[in-house]
Parts: sequence; C-alpha cells; structure tokens
Amino acid sequence: MGLFGSGLRRICAVVAASTAAEMSKLVRSALRRTRTVELRLDWLDTDAERAKCLSWLEKAQFRKATFLATCRRREGGGEFAGSLEREIYWLIQARAAGCQWCDLEVETIRKLSGQSVRKYSVPPRVLLSVHNFKRTPDLARILKSAAHSGVDAVKIAAQSRSIHDSVRLLRLARSSNNLVAVPMGEAGLPARILALREGSALAYAPVAEATAPGQISLDAMKHLYRAHALTRRTRVYGVIGDPVVHSLSPLLHNTGFVTRGVDAVYLPFLVRQLGDFLSAVPEFGVRGFSVTIPHKQAILKHVSECEPLASEIGAVNTVVVRSDGSLYGSNTDYVGVLRALEKKLRIRGSRALIFGAGGAARAVAFALSRAGAIVAICARRDKAAKELARAVGGEVVPRRALRTEFFDAILNTTPVGMHPHDGISPLAPGELHCRVVMDLIYRPQRTQLLKLAAKKGIATVSGVEMFLAQGIAQWEIWTQERAPEAPMRRAVLAALRAEELLRKGTHNDARISNRTATERS
Ligand code: NAP
Repeated sequence: MGLFGSGLRRICAVVAASTAAEMSKLVRSALRRTRTVELRLDWLDTDAERAKCLSWLEKAQFRKATFLATCRRREGGGEFAGSLEREIYWLIQARAAGCQWCDLEVETIRKLSGQSVRKYSVPPRVLLSVHNFKRTPDLARILKSAAHSGVDAVKIAAQSRSIHDSVRLLRLARSSNNLVAVPMGEAGLPARILALREGSALAYAPVAEATAPGQISLDAMKHLYRAHALTRRTRVYGVIGDPVVHSLSPLLHNTGFVTRGVDAVYLPFLVRQLGDFLSAVPEFGVRGFSVTIPHKQAILKHVSECEPLASEIGAVNTVVVRSDGSLYGSNTDYVGVLRALEKKLRIRGSRALIFGAGGAARAVAFALSRAGAIVAICARRDKAAKELARAVGGEVVPRRALRTEFFDAILNTTPVGMHPHDGISPLAPGELHCRVVMDLIYRPQRTQLLKLAAKKGIATVSGVEMFLAQGIAQWEIWTQERAPEAPMRRAVLAALRAEELLRKGTHNDARISNRTATERS
C-alpha cells in the first residue's frame, strides 16, 4: 500500500476554479471517479472565495476521500498573489476543513525558519513540491536537499524536453517510495501515464481545466490508459509522430485491449528525433509501435528485418520489438486501403486512378497493383508521378485527361480538403468519372470530394475505413489475436463525430459572436 492508498486512489484529481461554487461542483465530479483530490486554493479569485470553499468542504465531510490542499504562490509557479504568511494561513484553514495533506512548494519551505513547516498546524502530511517549467534539472541534487526538510513526500514536476528527460524522472520514481514524479510537456506524456507503475506515489489529472502543461484529463487517465492498473507486466505499445494529429490511435488500440482483456496499453509518443525514442524503448518496455509522418521512411534504417513489401514501398508503419530488442518492420497501410476499397469494388482487373504521389500514394499504388488493379497516377509534379507509375508498372495520366477518362475508382491521396480546409475539393465534379471515390482523409469523415461524388451518384469510401483497417491489422500483428473490430470502430467513429460536433459548435459560436459584434457596432 502506497502513501495515498492503492488503485484508483493513486490518481489525484486536480480541482481548480475561480469560484467556490465551481470548485464544489468539480469536487463532486472528481469524487465520482477517484477518492484523492487536490484543491487548488490558489486558483480561487479572492480570499472570500477561499473561505467559502473551505467552509463548504468542512460541512460536506467527505469521509472516505483524501484532500490535498495547495495554495501555491506565483514564485513557485502557482496563481496565489498573497504573501508566504497568507499561504500558510490558508493551509492552516485547509486542515481545519478536513484536508489531510498539503502541498508546499520548495520556494516557501526554504524561507521558513529551520526550513520546516512543522511548527504550524497545516495539514498533518506534507508534500514538498519542486517545479521546473523549463527543463528536467539535476534530480539527485533536488532529492538530497529535500531530505532535510522532514516532509512526508517529495513531488518533482519537471518539463521533459525529450523522452530521455522523462526516463530520468521515472528512474528516480523506481528507486524511491515517497516520490511523486510528474513529467510535464508533450514529450513527457507517456511517462506521465506510466509514472504510477514505475512507483510514483501519485499521478495528477485535471477534472476540468489543465493546470500544468501536457496534463491528461482524469477520464482519459482512468478509462483510456488505466494508469492505476498498469504493472511491469503490462505490454507497452505506442504511436510515434505527432500525438495531437494521431490522437485516434490510442483510442482504437486501447479499446481493443480493454475489450479483449489484454494486459497492454498504447501510448502517444511525441518523437522529434528517432534516436531519443529508440533509446527509451527498453526502458519503457515497448513491445511494438505505429510509425507516422515524418518517421515512416527514416525508421527503415533502424529495423533489423523488414517485410519485403514494406521495403519495396519504402515505408514502415508498424514495428514489432522482438525479445532480443531487434526491430521488425511492416506496412499495414497496404492492407488498410485494400480492406477499405474492396467493400465497394472488385479490385482485380479494375482501373484505379491515384491522385497524388506522396508517401500514402506509394502504399496505395503498391497495394492496388499487387491486388491486380491497373494503376494510373495523376500528380501535380510530373516527375513524382512518373517515378511512382514506373515502380508499380502503372501509367501516368495528365490532369486534363480526367475530364474525359473513366476509371473504376479514383483515390485522393493528397491532403487537400483536410480540416481546417473542409470546404475544398482536390478534384472538380467534372473530373469524377468513376464508380467509386475514396478519400484517404478522415478529418472530416465526409470530405468535400466525397460530397461531390455522392451528389453524382458515385459510391464513396471515407479515409476512416483505411485508418481503421490499418490499425486493426497492427493490433493483430502485435497481439496475434483477432481484433474486436466492432467496439474499436464504434470508439473511433464516436470520437470523430464528437470532434466534428465540437468544431461545428465552435464555428456557430464564432458566427453568433461575430453577428453580435456587428449588431453592437
Ligand atoms: P505526403 O507524403 O506529403 O504526400 C502528399 C501528396 O499530395 C504529394 O504528392 C503532394 O504533392 C500532393 N499535394 C499536396 N498538396 C497538393 C495540392 N494542393 N494539389 C495537388 N497535390 C497536392 O503525405 P501522405 O503521407 O501521403 O498523406 C497524404 C494524405 O493521406 C494526408 O491527408 C493523410 O492524412 C492521409 N493518410 C490517410 C491514411 C488513412 O489511414 N486514412 C493513411 C496515410 C495517409 P507534392 O509532392 O508536389 O507536394
């Protein structure tokens, strides 16, 4: 049993709001998900709101919960504009209201006589917090100086500028039983999720607004990543690239793991340099990963073996880390496009036009030609179109020919029409002479190109079908099991729908506020 208990109790909900009324709402919401709550008293607008909030807490008497009070001054990275004495005052009030723990920043404790808070009746258990919003400093030195302050636990929240920085923080968590390790920033995101399994006493997650860079919401921490249930036996997978762009992949894979009861987790890795990630693979125990732009070609240099087709395409999107640590690469974009298109078209013997000649076009061209289609390439750069056509034994079709020529399928592999340029189509209605149009784009699901095609009575395939099929193929490579396709599909479609609704809402809000502004002026 750790300092804060076990299981979900080790996920601490951060409650931060400007009014007592909002704080009380958030506390109730937090307690439906976990029993450990940090009250950010420094976020409250005024002393009157702080007093109101603590008086409410005292009356509410949440007996089974653990409350941690924080009134961090600006000097320590918090919002509290008051003096050190006022900070201590509010922590004393927090104890009276029932808080068992307080978080005291190192900037405050250093200024107290004897560098100790023990003579004040603040909450009985003290967490000394050290923040560095710029980098991950010399950690051993911090721990050594904290040892003299007689506190119950030490929190180190440090900006991870690389994955290696976050690894250093996790190593420290492994070797200590009263440390809270908080890697901040996007590069630290996977370590933030794995911190509990590495021995961190707590992991923080906001109920509403994020209070530190790179925080993951309480719901995602609990349901998507199950941070509290991960152990050293849990198999770790992930996606390397841009975690914001690839936010759907964790949802897809983790839904599969939860549905099948596979003890595994899939994490988003922000990878700026492949070497930074690859050296962390053994440390995190990564067993496999998805590779996205811009690493699909560069990873080829690091795999010791590769599926022949992936090396022919010149791109790897799936890596298996074998038990000896060596990497095996393959390409499931290839499978993805076939599975998606064959629902609407018999591929063998069909004539397919690929619009664009970039990375995805290469996988699509190889897939279609291997499956027996006659491949035609149309791209704005003639040289790229010729090279790709030559590689797959296809033909080059000039743009003007699209007005007259017929194809069984037209596939858009350019990013034209991708959010936020939803209203644009890469091809005009007069260029769509075919039975099926497939767009590789999946944000939005129904692109302008697909809408134009549907208007002409042409069958359409959204890029989300390819995204699902390539991801499901990866899942099956890693687990060697049949993937639970239906729930995985449902989760991704629901998330995309929610994103689209949100965008529509924001768009409508912007229109309303523009209108109001115009009406006022
Ligand atoms: P890429 O390597 O950058 O290739 C993009 C291609 O589009 C290049 O041929 C580029 O031509 C062309 N292009 C860009 N802007 C254009 C324009 N305005 N007019 C005409 N051609 C244009 O990118 P990628 O990796 O192939 O990805 C392309 C799209 O496919 C992205 O939207 C991506 O999200 C999507 N995708 C989807 C899936 C899925 O699972 N659904 C999988 C992979 C990719 P130049 O070379 O002349 O710039």
